[in-house]
Amino acid sequence: MKLPIIVYPDKKLKTVSQAVEDFNTDLHKFLDDMYDTMIESNGIGLAAIQVAKPDRILLLCIPDEDGEQDKKDLLEIINPKVSNEKGTIVYQEGCLSVPSFYEDIERYEKLTLDYQDRHGKEMRLEAEGLLSVAIQHEIDHLDGKLFIEKLPYGRRKKFEKEYKKLQKSNK
Ligand SMILES: [Zn+2]
Repeated sequence: MKLPIIVYPDKKLKTVSQAVEDFNTDLHKFLDDMYDTMIESNGIGLAAIQVAKPDRILLLCIPDEDGEQDKKDLLEIINPKVSNEKGTIVYQEGCLSVPSFYEDIERYEKLTLDYQDRHGKEMRLEAEGLLSVAIQHEIDHLDGKLFIEKLPYGRRKKFEKEYKKLQKSNK
C-alpha cells in the first residue's frame, strides 16, 4: 500500500529517528508499504521519516545499467552505521520530499555500512558511487537533515525562492 510522502518544509522532516528494536510483523508490513511507496513514486531510496515514521529505516533500490529497478536489488536497511568513509564524489541528487529539485552535492565516494535486515540479522556491505551517495542521503533523513542544507548560501537562497514559487503555483 502506498503511503503519503511528507514534503519540505514539513517540520517532521527535522525529526531525529529512533533505533528499531522490534523486528516483528508490523515492521515487515511497514517495509512492504515503504517499498510500494518508493516504487510508485519513482524513487531509488526512501527513509521512514519521509512517510512520517521516526524509525531508523531506509530502503534503497538502485537501478541497473538499463535503468531498470529490480526487486532483487532491494536493500532494507535498519539501524544503519557508516564507517571507513573515503574519497569524494559529486552527484546530482533529488529527493521525494523536495519535489522537482536536483542539485550537485559532494559526498564520500566509498564507505562501509553495518545494518540489520528485517529479521534483525547483522549485515555489512561495502558501497561506492551511487549506492554510497544514496546511503548518505537517506541516513541524513534519519538524522533530520535534507540535502538542500548542504548547498552553499547563495544556491540555498535561490532554492528557497524558487521552491516557494513552485509551491504557490501547485496550489
Ligand atoms: Zn531524500
